[in-house]
Amino acid sequence: MCADKNHDKPNVFKSVFTNKCARCRRGSIFLSKNPYDLKNCMKMPEKCPVCGQQVEVEVGFYYGTGYVSYALSIAICVASLIAWWLFIGFSIYDNSIYWWLGFNGILLLSLQPVLMRWSRTIWMAFFVRYDEDWHQPPQSTGRVNATFKNAI
Ligand SMILES: [Zn+2]
Repeated sequence: MCADKNHDKPNVFKSVFTNKCARCRRGSIFLSKNPYDLKNCMKMPEKCPVCGQQVEVEVGFYYGTGYVSYALSIAICVASLIAWWLFIGFSIYDNSIYWWLGFNGILLLSLQPVLMRWSRTIWMAFFVRYDEDWHQPPQSTGRVNATFKNAI
C-alpha cells in the first residue's frame, strides 16, 4: 500500500527494535512512543496506521509473548552476569554474587516495559510476514470472533 515502489525494505531488527508492524515495518503497533508511560505503554491501535494490518491478529494473540519475554530476560541475565564477572568479578570470599543478584533484579524490573513491548513486536514478527504490497481484504478483519459475531 505504498506509493513509492523503489523504497528500501525496512530492516527487520530495526523495525522490531522500534516496535513497528511486522507487515509493513513502518507503522507503530503501540499508541505511546514512550515505554515508561506506564499507564499507556501497552495500548495498541486496532489496526496498523500505515498498512491496516490487524494488530491483535486473533483473540488472545499476545498470550504467547511470555515465551519471548522469558527468552529475552534470560539473555539479559546472562549478559549482565558476564559483564559483572568481567568488570567487577566474582569471589567465594565476599558477597559479590548477591550484589549481582540484586543488581540484576533491579535491571530486569526497570527494563520490563521495554521487554514487554519488544516481546509483542517479536511475537507479531513470528506470525506476520513482511509484504510491502499487502492489502487487507475488504469485509474481513481476519479475526475469527468477528466472523462469529456477524453470524449471530
Ligand atoms: Zn503495518
